[in-house]
Amino acid sequence: MKNLLFRTVKNGLSLPEDLVVIDAHAHVDPPCVFGTVCAHEQGLLEPIRRFNVKAVYVTPIDSILTDTIGGNTRAMELVARYGGRVRGYMVVNPNHSRKVSEQELNRCLLEGNLEAIKLHSFFHDHPMDGPGYEPALEFADEFHLCVLSHTWDSPDTLCKLAEKYPNAFFYVAHFTGNLMHRPETRKYIDITNAHPNIYLDTTSSAAPLGAVEYTVEAVGADRVIFGTDYNWLSFEFGFGKILYADLDDESKRKILGLNFQGIIQRSLLGPKDFSQSESSKRAD
Ligand SMILES: [Zn+2]
Repeated sequence: MKNLLFRTVKNGLSLPEDLVVIDAHAHVDPPCVFGTVCAHEQGLLEPIRRFNVKAVYVTPIDSILTDTIGGNTRAMELVARYGGRVRGYMVVNPNHSRKVSEQELNRCLLEGNLEAIKLHSFFHDHPMDGPGYEPALEFADEFHLCVLSHTWDSPDTLCKLAEKYPNAFFYVAHFTGNLMHRPETRKYIDITNAHPNIYLDTTSSAAPLGAVEYTVEAVGADRVIFGTDYNWLSFEFGFGKILYADLDDESKRKILGLNFQGIIQRSLLGPKDFSQSESSKRAD
């Protein structure tokens, strides 16, 4: 049915049991860049309980700001503590040596329980196509992993990397928010249409009118991924943008979970062994 999801939320009814919701872009721990009052780990379980979210993929604050290796350890501890519902990104700091980065990739992704890579060129002050990111992109290409980054510096840089590492999945954060205001928006759309390994996400602190619908119209629902920046930003804000969007249910289901689930399933890392803690059992 075309607008079942819209009518369901509008009438205050429970979402369908078979709706797969995965928040592919979440965070944890204060302090955060948005002045959030509470971003503690217990909050990660709220959308899981309230909206039956299948998984949230988190990056702790330390990973991208002050202590990359400590933050990666923190992410692995959270995944172990909360079973399969809280899952995680590891971060590569481009200011580390190639040897340290390779060790960290192995520790977190091959030996550890993390599943994807996040890069933050702004906080780490390094170009996306610089040598410090080569180990991460080579690893992602070898194991067909998702690599999340905020803007990839420019459409030209992203285009170059998507062609150099064709087996990696390039995940552009904040497209329907911050990027909508930028003049290069059209170029990002063109290179997304030209490269099957590029995806655009809905995470944003602003919600320009019609941005989600515009992006789906421009690149297709198969290339748009649901993210929220929860629990720095409101989960309901990010979730509502999709549920209330002027899109058919099939598109919403792809965006809300099926697309990212498909990316993760194409990873060559193999299934991850998650401990079933008391917390995750309660979330079920
Ligand atoms: Zn983020």
